Amino acid sequence: MSESGCLFCRIASGEIPAQEVRSTPDVVAFRDINPQAPTHILIIPRKHISSVSEMAEEDAELVGKMFLMARDLAVEEDISEPGFRMVVNAGADAGQTVFHIHLHLLGGRVMGWPPG
Ligand code: AMP
Ligand code: ZN
Repeated sequence: MSESGCLFCRIASGEIPAQEVRSTPDVVAFRDINPQAPTHILIIPRKHISSVSEMAEEDAELVGKMFLMARDLAVEEDISEPGFRMVVNAGADAGQTVFHIHLHLLGGRVMGWPPG
């Protein structure tokens, strides 16, 4: 279920290269091209869901798999301790620029709060 012209669908299919860190039949993780922290990984479903606002009930397990992959990658990247941040921007005002749902995994520096 990919959408033609969607950047992250094209990365998931391998049509556009990315620095992939993990891949399963459902979920792909790759390094952000413009990292905002020493570790900045994007975790996406292969299925095209444009944003959290467009999630269906049936997508709950898929999004759970994205969280579990983030947990495992945090350990692999050695940021599980002292801590990491996961961010999902939903909609223009939140700063969403790519309309294929994605989870940012950030770590390796102290994070500020509240976010900008
Ligand atoms: P958001 O602003 O939450 O929609 O996040 C989109 C993210 O995708 C940004 O952090 C961008 O730096 C990142 N990004 C855009 N194009 C690419 C690409 N070709 N490969 C990897 N990351 C990208
Ligand atoms: Zn897509």
